[in-house]
Amino acid sequence: MSKESSRATYYNRLRLLSLTMAFCLLLLVPILNKYLHISFIQGWFQSLSIGHLWFVSPLEGMESILTSKKLYGPLLIGMAWPVLLASLLGRVYCSWICPISFLSDILDRCLGLFTRKRFRRQHSPLPKKTLWYALLGEIILTLVIGTPIFVFLSPPGLVGREIMMITLFHTVAIEGLIVIAVVLLHLVSQRFFCRYLCPLGALLGIIGAKRRLAISTDMGKCIECGTCKKVCPLGLDPIKQECFSAYCWNCGKCVDSCKVSALMFKWRDISLPEYPGGQTNQTTPHPNT
Ligand code: SF4
Ligand code: SF4
Repeated sequence: MSKESSRATYYNRLRLLSLTMAFCLLLLVPILNKYLHISFIQGWFQSLSIGHLWFVSPLEGMESILTSKKLYGPLLIGMAWPVLLASLLGRVYCSWICPISFLSDILDRCLGLFTRKRFRRQHSPLPKKTLWYALLGEIILTLVIGTPIFVFLSPPGLVGREIMMITLFHTVAIEGLIVIAVVLLHLVSQRFFCRYLCPLGALLGIIGAKRRLAISTDMGKCIECGTCKKVCPLGLDPIKQECFSAYCWNCGKCVDSCKVSALMFKWRDISLPEYPGGQTNQTTPHPNT
């Protein structure tokens, strides 16, 4: 493989490996629990315990606090891990771990086998900020009906729950249809649910808005070919600094796609001021500006 093509797939391969490992974990846990009677590890990404460590999805944890009106120490500690991860690295749960991302990527790859080109449905039927309204609506609904809705109906959570149901009880829950609907929506408009509707993705985006790791753009090298925007699964334009926005989930696809290496992951120096217009200190301006 040439140096150029291996550079062009580096983050894509790493991300697929991470997504695959995370999905395998979902498959493995109920098998360990049921057939080997190993209970050291239990649950799925909504609530996962490994020994004495407990990881809780921040949205599901927040819903539990809102509906029970109680603060529970272990729950707060369990929520702190993903919050820390998102505040340092952004929405990487979405792009590197979430089973919905895994299923969407696998679907794209399968379709790519038949069409010889990766499916890209980049039309954006809704404004990006719909994502924030989805989170707001979900919180309001939870408060009004007094039930943690996302705990029961979150598509990423449902994948883990369905796998658990199949392995332990040899049955599926009707809510699993939501996962199928989300994946089918992805065929209509790329990552439709993640772009516009996922309250968890929105919450992680808000937590990671000032993340330390972000895509840096070197406008001195950029030839403005637009490839990075074309490959972005969220329809963001790195050249317009949208890779610094709360929407970006640091997948690295734009970095892989740039033939002149104008994009790269960089730790942001949060002590330096931001430029007007949302540009950060990590943007190297175009030589002609
Ligand atoms: S936006 Fe939601 S469904 Fe999509 S990858 Fe993130 S957590 Fe998973
Ligand atoms: S801007 Fe780049 S890193 Fe961010 S979501 Fe788009 S392709 Fe991924």
